[in-house]
Amino acid sequence: MAGSVRAMVMVGPGRPVEGRRVAAPRPQPGGAILETLASEVCGTDVHLWHGRLAGVPYPIIPGHVSCGRILETAGALEDVDGRPLHVGQVVTFFDVFGTCGSCWHCLVARSGTRCPRRRVYGITTSAEEGLLGGWAERIEIRPGVRMAPLPDGLDVADFMGGGCGLPTGLHAVERAGVALGDVVVVQGSGPVGLNAAIFSLLSGAQAVFVAGAPEARLAAARALGADDVLDIAAVSDPAARVRWVRDRTAGRGADVVIEASGNPQAVREGLEMLRDAGRYAVVGQYTDAGDVTLNPHAHLNRRHATVLGCWGYEYTHLHRALALMARHRGRFRWRDLITREYALEDAGQALLDMERLAVVKALIRPQDARP
Ligand SMILES: [Zn+2]
Ligand SMILES: [Zn+2]
Repeated sequence: MAGSVRAMVMVGPGRPVEGRRVAAPRPQPGGAILETLASEVCGTDVHLWHGRLAGVPYPIIPGHVSCGRILETAGALEDVDGRPLHVGQVVTFFDVFGTCGSCWHCLVARSGTRCPRRRVYGITTSAEEGLLGGWAERIEIRPGVRMAPLPDGLDVADFMGGGCGLPTGLHAVERAGVALGDVVVVQGSGPVGLNAAIFSLLSGAQAVFVAGAPEARLAAARALGADDVLDIAAVSDPAARVRWVRDRTAGRGADVVIEASGNPQAVREGLEMLRDAGRYAVVGQYTDAGDVTLNPHAHLNRRHATVLGCWGYEYTHLHRALALMARHRGRFRWRDLITREYALEDAGQALLDMERLAVVKALIRPQDARP
């Protein structure tokens, strides 16, 4: 079909991902079209495939964080610093649009990530609306969507090694208020947990411990500078895991615990790893994985705990994370988190590999695919 591009479509929960040809997109005024260079397959995509997120308008083109080359723009565009964006430039973009800036959530609560009009590429966009996901040869940048050029010295693999875990991890660390000299425990060794560990170190944590699995992810945590790691597959008793933290904190528990595991049981365990008057941030429960029993006296009130939820991220988190990545890419090898790259038509295999945690970070490279 002339003037068409290939896309991989998640037609519904549990169903195989389908390859489709769709009409090549044209930009709306103030918008742009990207040639997709890379998109990610992350834990969220697995959750979408399992049907665990409400309000997803299947069929969708997944791939919320991506990099591309600007193919076409409709009108003059600039980045947030006022620099012109031009055809041929390699950019990423803030994958959220539609946040209205005029509702109660935006104006009164100043919590833009809870704006009811907020939409996310590859998650709350239907394939019927256009190429609004990265598992495709092209991506339509809607008017108002903020593109960000990759800073000098950063390439696609560096940025995509961080992926959506990069701004999410930064947001979680900001929310938890990690301060100079804090001891931090991160529950979960996926991309969000690994990035939370990185940004905790950059925030001046005196020690960062990561509890997770499998071994390849713990090795990644060690490589990026975690002081110690706990293999939760080897230590299955929650009380022993809590003891492991207390043994490393003079019996008190950590100043800050960041939950990035996705397992509801981790919340109870994480609160027990927390010192009195510590701060607990929950960022890993992006989908509804069920309930957990807490003892409000022991876990919250007597502990004098501060518990914070952390939903999504804003442009500021992406912007600052990119700058920090450019500054610290020698110390933290984000690109090494990419375990495997897949051609576009192998997106279904990438999803299976992510489902069984065989990869830390999986990338789709649409331009490497055979027609
Ligand atoms: Zn709003
Ligand atoms: Zn993601």
